[in-house]
Amino acid sequence: TASDSTDIAIIGAGPAGAIAAKCLCDRGFRVRVIEAAQFPRFTIGESLLPQCMEDLAAAGLLDTVNDGGYQRKNGARFSQDEHVVDIDFRDKFSDGPGETFQVERAEFDHRLIQAAIEAGAEVRFGARVNGFTPDANAPSLDITPDDGAPYRLDARFVIDASGPGRVLARLCGLSRDPALSPRTAVFAHLHDNITAPGYDREKILLGAHHSAAERWFWLIPFSNGRASLGFVEPSDRLPQLGDSAEDRYRALWASFPELKRLLEHAELLRTPGEIQGYSANVTALTGPGYAIAGNAGEFLDPIFSSGVTIALRSGRRAAELAARELNGEAVDWRTEYEQPLRHGIDVFRAFVEAWYDGTLQTIIFHPNPPVYLKRMISAVLAGYAWDTANPFVANPRKHLGTLLDLCRKESA
Ligand code: FAD
Repeated sequence: TASDSTDIAIIGAGPAGAIAAKCLCDRGFRVRVIEAAQFPRFTIGESLLPQCMEDLAAAGLLDTVNDGGYQRKNGARFSQDEHVVDIDFRDKFSDGPGETFQVERAEFDHRLIQAAIEAGAEVRFGARVNGFTPDANAPSLDITPDDGAPYRLDARFVIDASGPGRVLARLCGLSRDPALSPRTAVFAHLHDNITAPGYDREKILLGAHHSAAERWFWLIPFSNGRASLGFVEPSDRLPQLGDSAEDRYRALWASFPELKRLLEHAELLRTPGEIQGYSANVTALTGPGYAIAGNAGEFLDPIFSSGVTIALRSGRRAAELAARELNGEAVDWRTEYEQPLRHGIDVFRAFVEAWYDGTLQTIIFHPNPPVYLKRMISAVLAGYAWDTANPFVANPRKHLGTLLDLCRKESA
């Protein structure tokens, strides 16, 4: 086979791959991105968190994103039938931006990778990575382009940002049980045609079902009158909802009275898609000559929109450390990359578990939670899961438990 070489090879051109490519080009390295799809391509996951803005700014991508004309976002509205609670990200414990965007990912991801290309990244669209040879100094990838002969790419370092493709997890046998119950997401885009006067387009709407345990929906409006509407349901209950993804989508939609009212004039824009058992994890995020960033490593759940935030943070961090290593400095990937990254992900995990066991609903829908505690929760939901000055970051399970007891005592 033919071969080629680069400094850094990146698998996948989603947010994790794009930010890593941009950071490394800015530091003067030769960067090659291998992307299986042609861009723009549809992907789900449209609601960002304010924490993202710090990583985008650090990578010199803030103007790129601000120029996109996206829907502004300043918080989350939680609903359960008539009951509604707003969390405003501008009122929060941690420092940092309190606003961000809701984006159609096809356009957003394309915009980010285009900025990396302008910074010097060579991106090969329509080419798939299907082999990997780990090596501390000279890892290599086997690549098959859609329209050409397979070849080998020699690199000095590899970043796997392949999202649900999970390329290195599969090729290196790193997959592990995500330790979350299997749940399925069913989703589509629509013209929302919302006319309800109280509706706030600057917040994601998250609706908990009043009786079907663990069922919830997201409604993420965009700036062009479109919106993303999706549902999560325990996988074992899916067959009761219909034979096709579209049947299930319509059944889930009809099961929320507040959606029937809000979206009575909505028009579906695409056939609903479905991802069964979306959670995933790996035994290690680093190994000889490689690091795994974004969804190619751990993915928890869509409930708190943490996916792109984790992708941008890990992609940026992997790039900064790879740059140091290639410049001859010693890098301890376990303590400098994996441990801090996993700590933030574990904070989101504690919140995800607390959502599904009902703890967080009790807290969020409580009529008068102490303001200082609400601000700490707001900071985590805004993505500041690495700010250990926040007790809910330092020890999320303990503080969620204490807060639950407090809420229960007050309502008793
Ligand atoms: P991706 O964006 O998935 O990019 C990976 C790229 O790698 C793809 O373009 C793919 O084509 C390419 N690739 C895969 N295999 C190969 C291969 N073998 N060779 C070459 N290229 C390859 N996150 C949020 O922040 N907010 C949300 O509201 C949100 N909602 C979600 C709802 C659902 C139902 C799900 C499942 C996820 C949601 N997420 C959300 C998560 C979010 O979509 C992901 O976290 C995010 O896309 C991860 O970015 P990434 O760069 O890691 O991977």
